[in-house]
Order: sequence, then structure tokens, then C-alpha cells
Amino acid sequence: MASKVHHLHFLLIPLLSQSHIIPLTDFGKLLAKRSVEVSIITTPLNAIRYRATIHHAIESGLRIQLIALEFPSQEAGLPTGCENMDLLTSMDLASDFFRACEMLKTPLENMILGLDPKPSCIISTNALPWTQQVADRFKIPRYIFETISCFTLFCSKKLSEAQIQDLESFLVPNIPHKIEFKRAQLPENMRKTPKDFEKVIDQIKKSQLSARGTLVNSFEKMEHWYVEGLKKERENVRCIGPVSLCNEKVGEKFDRGNKNSIDENYCISWLDWKEPKSVIYACFGSLCRVSPGQIKEIGLGLEASCFPFVWVIRGLDCSHEVEKWLFEEKFEERVEGRGLIVRGWAPQVLILSHQSVGGFLMHCGWNSTLEGVCAGVPMVTWPMFAEQFYNEKFIVNVLGIGVRIGAEGCVKFGGAEEQSQGLVKWDRVKRSIEEVMDGDEEGKERRRRVEKLAEMAKEALEGGSSYLNVTLLIQDVTQHVINNY
Ligand code: UDP
Repeated sequence: MASKVHHLHFLLIPLLSQSHIIPLTDFGKLLAKRSVEVSIITTPLNAIRYRATIHHAIESGLRIQLIALEFPSQEAGLPTGCENMDLLTSMDLASDFFRACEMLKTPLENMILGLDPKPSCIISTNALPWTQQVADRFKIPRYIFETISCFTLFCSKKLSEAQIQDLESFLVPNIPHKIEFKRAQLPENMRKTPKDFEKVIDQIKKSQLSARGTLVNSFEKMEHWYVEGLKKERENVRCIGPVSLCNEKVGEKFDRGNKNSIDENYCISWLDWKEPKSVIYACFGSLCRVSPGQIKEIGLGLEASCFPFVWVIRGLDCSHEVEKWLFEEKFEERVEGRGLIVRGWAPQVLILSHQSVGGFLMHCGWNSTLEGVCAGVPMVTWPMFAEQFYNEKFIVNVLGIGVRIGAEGCVKFGGAEEQSQGLVKWDRVKRSIEEVMDGDEEGKERRRRVEKLAEMAKEALEGGSSYLNVTLLIQDVTQHVINNY
């Protein structure tokens, strides 16, 4: 007798931040390609941003949809329409933002009450511990989706267990690599734990204990030792990435995350005219604020390096002062044909995967790190805050695919003030770019390593360990459905 085919419906709930919505949407596409029905919970403004992404997926026959719940911005004391962390004008608003996210719990529960059959599982990011309560209420298994690496998860655990609070610098204990941190490089919450943060950390820990498993956007061969280490710390850990590789067609790579500030054809033809591996792509993610003074130094460094470049200046950073400087210096005329400035949002995966791109000046966000790895592009690492210094150490010390710009410590999360250690000057920007683009033995070796990792990433997703881990996840959920309905 043929076994009954169970209809699976997964609810994906990302934190409302680009670095969570983007990978969870990609993961949703991967699941939908495996015949799972996927609903992504979001809000009206984010639904507009992601409409094109979902449209591509539906056009290729995938069963995936966005469900928009009204976001209680005003009730939480936020400006109207402030529905994504990249719209927070100050990180002082972050706790209001998290409160507003938590207020989505009741509308989410009401939405689930209207579903028949109820969803098969919830996959939500670690920063939303209240989604565990929703899963418990409906007796649905919940999996945590981690948007950071096993290396970071494991090392930060080791550091929080060690008594390092009073030391200025220290080595991460009991790991196979020599990873040294300066105190100033640790995320703010590891240096001092404010009272309301303690509560959130406590909730996250509790929700981890009740979750059915942890899914990490990474792949086993890249950080094998740390994956194994994490498996000893947590139940049911599976690496299922890099999820950005689900974007195969040009249109999918272009329409990802936000409305682009550059025309697709112009962007591609600009890159087409450049020599293979000659272009440096500079972008600092969706949240970093870069001060006007630092922007000028970056521009001068890119200009002096003599390589063609695409430079993304985040919308919030395109201040009057920056525009005035670009205009008065005739910067864009000086670099005409060689330098392309994107003000706002760039199609990062499309650009990185173009054959003309040979280096990535980046802030060490985990998604950007994976996207650089998948494109086989060596990196200049410039961490700014959160867990980005962990990623820098992983890129440079563990994988050997990057050159450090030399950032000494975290800047205030989301603050555009000058770095406390002073600016990274243009000549350091220039030297680091030259080093990463360099064809000397060390440079060739670095490039060879990252190209090898790109192949391994592809293998992991196309029938390798990550593919298998998604199969195991689907089997696990199916088993739960069989046992409970
Ligand atoms: N991103 C993009 N275009 C931009 C800026 C960012 O596509 O102009 C995407 C990038 O590809 C990545 C995400 O936004 O997927 C940023 O996530 P990451 O973890 O690298 O950094 P964060 O934004 O959290 O600092």
C-alpha cells in the first residue's frame, strides 16, 4: 500500500531586519522547491519590499506566500511605518522595536487559529523567543533559524563561560584555532549586560531548550569542528546553507531584499565591460552607519587603489554633507568609468557573482560573508559591531580568505559618530584593497582557498550535507505530523 503523502505547511517568522528576512525567505524558497508549502510572516511595508522576490518564486511554480500582520509601530512608540530595523534612525529605538515585534504574538495566534489544518512547524529566528510560546500553545514543533555561524555560536558560548570580564585581551579557550579578542571587539552585550537585555537573553535561552532543533545558515565542511562542538551544546543542530545559493536566475538575484537603487541592465553592462576579477565591491550591509568623515576616507582610498569599484553608500548615510563633498570634489567625475556609486540598495548577490568582481570590502555581516564565500571572492574585513569581529576572525584566521583593514573595536550599534579609535584613513583602505586584489603568492593562495570554498558550498546545497539536512528536517516534521494528527 502506498504511504500517505502528508501536506506540509511551514510558517517562517523572521525578525524584521534584512539580515533575517533575506535568508529566511531564501530558505523558504529552498523548502518550497522540496514540495513544502511556505508562509512567511511579515508586515505590510516588508511585504511590499519582498513582493518581487516572492513573485519570481511563484512564477517558477513554488507554493510560497507572504502573510502581512499590521505592525503596532505607534503603540510601541515608534514612528509610523518603522517596520524594519534598517529604518531605525537611532538604535535607542531598538527596545521599542523588539517590543512591537512581541506585540505581533496575539495577531499571529489569531491567524493560526484560522488555519485548518494548523501549520506543520514554525521556523523563527533566535531573536524572537516569544514564537516558542506560540508553537507550544498550538503543539507545533519550532526550529530556531540562526543567522550567525557555528563558529560564533560556539566561541561566544566559551567566552561567556570563561571569566574574561576584567581582561583587556584574551584567547578563546579550548578551540583548535588561536583566536584572540580585545575586549573592545566583543559585542556590547558581552561586555556589560544591561538589565532589560538580561531578561531577553534569559528568554532566548529558555526558548532554545524547548525548541525542537536549530538550523544554521552555514555548511558543514566550512566549519566542521565548530558544527560538531555546537552539536554537543545543543540538541538537533543542522547546517542548511548557504541559502543565498537558491537564487539562480538573474532576476532572482536582482530582486532581493529591497527596491534597488540601480537599473538592472545598467549594472550588468557596467560590470560586463570590466576585466575578470578586476572590480572591488564595497558594501557595509543594511544596518551600519558610516560617518561622513569615514565615507570620505573610503572614497579616497577606493580612488587611490586604481581598481574599478562599485561602492554602496547606504541611503541613511547619504547626508547633505556627503553629497556636498562628492559634488564639490567632483568625485564622480574623477572616477568616471572606473567607479560606480550606488546610493541606497544594491543587488549584492548579483554583483558579487559577476565574473568581473575580484574583491569585497565588507563589514563582516554573516550573510555578506556567506555571499562572498559563495561567489569565491576574497574579502577586506572591516567589522563594526555585533558579532562582526567573530566573523572577521573566522574569515581571516580560520578560513584564510581575507585581509584585515585593522578595525580595533566596535562602534556604537547604528551610530554614525566617528570611531573612538579615530578614522580608518584612506591610505589604509588603499593598501588593504591592493593586498586583497594582489596576485602575489599569498594573494593567489587566498583566492584559491575561497574559490574552493565556493565549490564546496555549492556541493553542500546540491545533494550534499545541507541538502541532506533539509531532507532530515522535512522527515522530522513529517514524523511529528504523523504522530500528532
Ligand atoms: N544587502 C543587499 N544590498 C545592499 C545591502 C545589503 O543586497 O545594498 C543584503 C546582503 O546581500 C545581505 C544582507 O543585505 O544578504 C545584509 O546582511 P548581513 O548579515 O551581511 O549584514 P547586516 O545588514 O545585518 O549588517
